[in-house]
Amino acid sequence: MTEVPKCSLKLTDNNLAEKNKKVLQFIEDVTANADEVQQRVLSEILSRNAYVEYLLRHGLHGHTDRETFKKVMPVITYEDIQPDITRIAHGDTSPILCSKPISEFLTSSGTSGGERKLMPTIEEDLERRSLFYSLLMPVMSQSVPGLEKGKGMYFRFIKSEAKTPGGLLARPVLTSYYKSSHFKERPYDPYSNYTSPNETILCPDSFQSMYSQILCGLCQNKEVLRVGAVFASGFIRAIRFLEEHWSSFCNDIRTGIINPQITDASVREAIMKILKPDPRLADFIEVGCSRDSWKGIITRLWPNTKYVDVIVTGSMSQYIPTLDYYSNGLPLVSTLYASSESYFGVNLNPLCKPSEVSYTLIPTMCYYEFLPVHRSNDVAHSPSVPKSLSEKEQKELVDLVDVKLGQEYELVVTTYSGLYRYRVGDVLRVAGFKNKAPQFNFICRKNVVLSIDSDKTDEVELQNAVKNAVNHLMPFDATLADYTSYADTSTIPGHYVLFWELTLNGSTPIPPSVFEDCCLTIEESLNSVYRQGRVSDKSIGPLEIKIVEPGTFDKLMNFAISLGASIEQYKAPRCVKYAPIVELMNSRVVSSYSSTKCPKWVPGPQAMEQSGLKEVRHSGQL
Ligand code: AMP
Repeated sequence: MTEVPKCSLKLTDNNLAEKNKKVLQFIEDVTANADEVQQRVLSEILSRNAYVEYLLRHGLHGHTDRETFKKVMPVITYEDIQPDITRIAHGDTSPILCSKPISEFLTSSGTSGGERKLMPTIEEDLERRSLFYSLLMPVMSQSVPGLEKGKGMYFRFIKSEAKTPGGLLARPVLTSYYKSSHFKERPYDPYSNYTSPNETILCPDSFQSMYSQILCGLCQNKEVLRVGAVFASGFIRAIRFLEEHWSSFCNDIRTGIINPQITDASVREAIMKILKPDPRLADFIEVGCSRDSWKGIITRLWPNTKYVDVIVTGSMSQYIPTLDYYSNGLPLVSTLYASSESYFGVNLNPLCKPSEVSYTLIPTMCYYEFLPVHRSNDVAHSPSVPKSLSEKEQKELVDLVDVKLGQEYELVVTTYSGLYRYRVGDVLRVAGFKNKAPQFNFICRKNVVLSIDSDKTDEVELQNAVKNAVNHLMPFDATLADYTSYADTSTIPGHYVLFWELTLNGSTPIPPSVFEDCCLTIEESLNSVYRQGRVSDKSIGPLEIKIVEPGTFDKLMNFAISLGASIEQYKAPRCVKYAPIVELMNSRVVSSYSSTKCPKWVPGPQAMEQSGLKEVRHSGQL
């Protein structure tokens, strides 16, 4: 095994400046030696797992070199290892994917067959995630000094967990992290000084968790130097909650008595260490919140805030205008790029414009490969129609240090916890290099057409859902001539909009209730992450169908052609984003309908539930 010098990170020093220096040096070292580190990571993963069933099955037979690995091992999607995952979930503890015991499953927001994918993880992954998090603040402090002098107001939440028939926990990666000792028992560090006590984050009731975190943030408003949540959508939800409940918060702060709706004893106890009767602060908040406009509410209530720490890349970029409005244009900082499979990249230039954000992939996290994406040829690489790569396509994969500036790639990873040449489903573009390590713009999740929060709806899912819904039109002799969709984030929460053009052959008018049934059928047909967002998280509003005038899709085609689309190749887009097109569609709406009921959603992956996956604890979730 090649030993790469100076790439380990041990933060034993208490001195902050010294610690920061070490972290930055670590980033220098691992990026300067990116290829050597990657080779070491792969050889470490393969030597530890030399005798796992999956690698033996494919004939790797203990080889740890890149060449053999690439020759022998297939590039896969989740569906390829689903039978192995199911075995592990049912209690098979033999080394199937990984020689170390699978400690739990991480439920990804990516879905397969409508259900969350289950990603295996091992105990030591928590350490890797902790190390990754420890890189963020030293980088940030280069651009914004003095952050150690105040607090971060971060809205963090846990979600419900389930147990597999074999007894393993299945839960989101952040829930796993927040519940781990790495988070709960983190040693004091001025950079992990947050306004939310652990008890408020770990509270399973979403209302109480949100309420208590905002209350604690308000009580410590002068100390707050940065605010955030993981994704932009979550942060906006918190602001919306504040909009609805500010008078209760003022009441609590004025009297020093907590709202009786907060019943969790540990949460109440934690709040009482922070909440003191403070009529002046209550007045200040009341004045700030009772203005007509909520423009700049963040800087009004938390006047020392220097930036908003939320991911605004990818589908989250749709929230940039709302965040700019609430924050009066404070910097929006996307610090990291990560997933349930592994954590990947850090933004080394955090104050750059959202449109310029690039993530430097950290070479120690996992072994990366890159499949060139030719977007004109997109369908061929579509992950929603799982398809094995041809031998030729497999050979196109390149290593981390071999990617080309400006080229787009699909990310493929090999992880310490048993994923080998696994297609994550994200498309990235090389924006530059930090030493030898590439920096990537996040382009998109492959084939996702609609997303409001962590939901990811692809074209095939949308198509099936619409197909199910149009059955309701049959008795009226009506058919769907064409449709498209749009993620409307002007409402809070945002919601899916479908534009439908109908061909009416019958004479009986279609009652509104039929369209409402269509809305519900679509929602029922969408994946469990969408339904959880609708039902439990309330992060997605009711789906809306807008009926457009006959001829609208012809107009849409003419418009697209006027913008340069080819007539022969024109296909109505299944999702529209370009504002003039959305305007065109909206200008032709004759009626609109929304779901009047929530779709069904049960906590814990349903498919697994049928095979015995049990919910451990259900929370109303955020
Ligand atoms: P999950 O597996 O549910 O944790 O979701 C991970 C996925 O979220 C990634 O594969 C990306 O598609 C998306 N994601 C994570 N970080 C970012 C980011 N910084 N910008 C855009 N999308 C992201």
